Amino acid sequence: MNQGTMRTCVLAVFFVALVSYPDSAQGVSLPLRENTETCSLPDDLVNEIRSYKTTVDRIINAVVNGSLSGEVWNELANFTDKFGSRIAGSQNLENSIDFMVDRSKKFNLDKVHTEPVTVPHWIRGDESATLLLPRVKKLSMLGIGGSVATPLPDGITAQAIVVEDFDELSARSAEAKGKIVVFAEKWVSYGVTVQYRSKAASIASKFGAVATLVRSVTPFSLNTPHTGWQSYASDVKKIPTACITVEDAKMLLRMDRRGEKIVINLKMSAKLLDPKVSRNTVVEVTGHAHPDHYVLVSGHLDSWDVGNGAMDDGGGAFISWYTPVLLKKLGLTPRRTVRAVMWTAEEPGLIGAFAYQKAHPNDNEIVLAMESDEGTFNPTGIIMRGTNKATCMVQEILKLLEPIHATKLQLSNDVGSDIMVWSNSKVPLASLRNDNERYFWFHHTEADTMEVEDPDVLDRCLAVWAAVSYVVADLSVRLPVDSNIRTCVFLPIVVITFLVGILRHYVSVLTSSSKQADIQQVQDSQVLIRSRMLRENGGNLPKSSFQMRRHYFNNEDSGYFKTQKRSSPATNPMSDPSVMTDMLKGNITNVLPMIVIGGWINWMFSGFVTTKVPFPLTLRFKPMLQRGIELTSLDPSWVSSASWYFLNVFGLRSIYTLVLGENNAADQSRHFQDQMSGAAMALPPDPKQAFKAEWETLEICEHKWALQNVEAELLAMKD
Ligand SMILES: [Zn+2]
Repeated sequence: MNQGTMRTCVLAVFFVALVSYPDSAQGVSLPLRENTETCSLPDDLVNEIRSYKTTVDRIINAVVNGSLSGEVWNELANFTDKFGSRIAGSQNLENSIDFMVDRSKKFNLDKVHTEPVTVPHWIRGDESATLLLPRVKKLSMLGIGGSVATPLPDGITAQAIVVEDFDELSARSAEAKGKIVVFAEKWVSYGVTVQYRSKAASIASKFGAVATLVRSVTPFSLNTPHTGWQSYASDVKKIPTACITVEDAKMLLRMDRRGEKIVINLKMSAKLLDPKVSRNTVVEVTGHAHPDHYVLVSGHLDSWDVGNGAMDDGGGAFISWYTPVLLKKLGLTPRRTVRAVMWTAEEPGLIGAFAYQKAHPNDNEIVLAMESDEGTFNPTGIIMRGTNKATCMVQEILKLLEPIHATKLQLSNDVGSDIMVWSNSKVPLASLRNDNERYFWFHHTEADTMEVEDPDVLDRCLAVWAAVSYVVADLSVRLPVDSNIRTCVFLPIVVITFLVGILRHYVSVLTSSSKQADIQQVQDSQVLIRSRMLRENGGNLPKSSFQMRRHYFNNEDSGYFKTQKRSSPATNPMSDPSVMTDMLKGNITNVLPMIVIGGWINWMFSGFVTTKVPFPLTLRFKPMLQRGIELTSLDPSWVSSASWYFLNVFGLRSIYTLVLGENNAADQSRHFQDQMSGAAMALPPDPKQAFKAEWETLEICEHKWALQNVEAELLAMKD
C-alpha cells in the first residue's frame, strides 16, 4: 500500500467512524470475571480497600453470626404477614408504605420520606376458566395485569385452538377467528418466553381471536398459574387474556394435536380504574463528607395481587431498607450517603423508578445504583455494569466477602429492573448475584410467600448489600463513572489532538530560527521548476518553440545547466549549530505532546471502546484498531481509545491543511515520516547534483506535438 492509499484509507475510517458513532457506546457484554488479571488498580487503592476488612468482618459477624442474625427475615415476615400482597394502586400498598415510614423512624435514620408517584390501578375481580369439551375441568388461571374483562355474567364460551408459538398462529390464522387462542409455548428463558404473556392478546386479536390463554412463564409448576403485566398494541381490539398452568396448557396442546374439539368458558371482571398517587419510600444514612453523593440500594415494595410478595420483591426491598438501618446500628457513617429506595409500581413497568429519575435528574449524585429484584437466594456476589476500573474496585471489595463465599463479580449490561432506567446514563449499576434458579418457580404466583425466604440466606444477602454499599460510599475515591463515551472519550480525543496540533504549529513558527533565503538558491529552484514544466507540458508547444527552450537550458556552450557552476554545500549538518537547535526544538514540539497525550489517554481512557466502524473487518485489523484492549472475542470493527488517538493523529492532516494552510507544523504524521525516512537528518539540497539530473532528463525528453493530427480529428468529429 503506498502512502496515498494509506492516507485515504485512514481518512475514510476516521470519517466513517465519526458519522457512525451512535450504536457504539454500549453493547459489549462481558462474562463472569473470576480473577483480577484484567484489573490494574493502583496499589494504594487496593490497600485502602483491603483496610476495610475489619469493618466488613464486623458487618458479617453482626448479621450472620451475631445479635442481628435473623432480624431482616423477622422484619420481612412481620411485614408480609401484616399486609400480604401489595399491588400498585391498592390501599393495601399505601398502608404498607405508611408502615415502612413509621418503622424506619424507629431506627433513628438520618432521612425518612416518601416521594409521590402516579400509578395505574388495575383490579382483577372474579375470574374463572372452565374446560367444557372434551371434558369438564376447572382450569387454574390468573388474569394478566392490564387485561380487559369478558362480557358478564356469562363470560365468553368459544372453541379453542392451541398453538406452540406465534409462527404456528400465523400458519393457522384462518382457524383463529372467533376462537379462544391458547398458547402452549415452550420455556426458553424468562427474557425470551415472557413475550407470549406480553404480546399474545395483541397478536391473536389481529387474527380475530376473542380471548387468549397463555401458558405461565415458568420452567416448573405445581399447578400454579403465574400472572404478570401486558399492554395492548394501539391498533387492536382489546381482548381478555389470562395465564393458565403449565400442566393444563400441555394437556390442551395434546387434545388439539389429537384433533379433539376444545370448548372453554372464560369469565373475567377485571377493571382498569383511574390512576392513583402512590409513593417511593426513601431512607438514608447521610454521608459525613459528601452528603449529596450517594450509593443507592433498592428493591420494590409493590407486588402482584397474589401470594405475599415475599420473594418478589420483599427480600430485595428489605435487604435494601435494612442496609442503612444496619449501618446506624453499627455506628458506621460513610463519607458519602447510603440511600435505600423502596420503589412503588415496579410491576406495571418501573413506574416508581422513572418518577424518581425525573425528580432527581442529576445522575452525577449517584455513585452506584444497586437493586435486588431477582431473588434473595444464596448470594454469590454482584452482577455489575460499569467501567473497567469501577468493576475492578467492586471486585476487590468482594474479596472481603470471602467468609461468606460471595466474591464473584459478573459483568453484564442487564442488571436488574428498576435501575435500568439509568441504563442510558453513566451511572454504574449493580445487582445481587444469587443462586436463583428457582426464582421463576414462585414469581408472580400464590406461592410467593415467606416459605421461599430463608433467614440465614437473607442475612448473607444483607451482608453483601451492606458491605458493598458501605465500602463504595466510604472509599476516599469515588467509583469512576461509566461515561457517555461520545462526550467523555470520543470527542475529547478528537478535540485535544486537534488543538495540540494547532498549538504545535504556532510554537514551531515562534521557535524556528529564521533562515535567510539566498537569492541564488531561489533562482536555482525557479529554473528547475521551469525546466520540469517544459518537460511535462512541452507537447503544447510547436517543436521549434520546445527546442528553443531546451536549448536555453541544455546547450553545451551557453545552456543554464551547463554554464552555472555551483559548489557542493557543507557536508556535515552537525557542524551547523542552528540545524541542531532546530532538531531539538522539533523534537520538543512533536515528541513531548505525543508522550503527554499518550499518557493522558492511557490514564483516563485505557480499555475504552470508543466507536465502531459500520462494516465488517477481518481479524488483521484488531492490532491496529484495538490497541490497549486484549479481548479475543471483541469484533474487529470496534475501535479502542488508544487506536482512536492514532487515527486522529493521521486523520486530522487534511483538517490542519484546511485551517493552517500547506506546510503547517501541526501535522504530526509528517514528523513521523521525516524521522523514519531520515529526512530530519538529510543534507541540504545540492544544486550541482540537481542540475546534472535535470539536464539528463530534459536531454532525453522527446517532443510530441499535441496537435499532431488535429485536422483529421476535427473532420472525424464533424461526421
Ligand atoms: Zn420484582
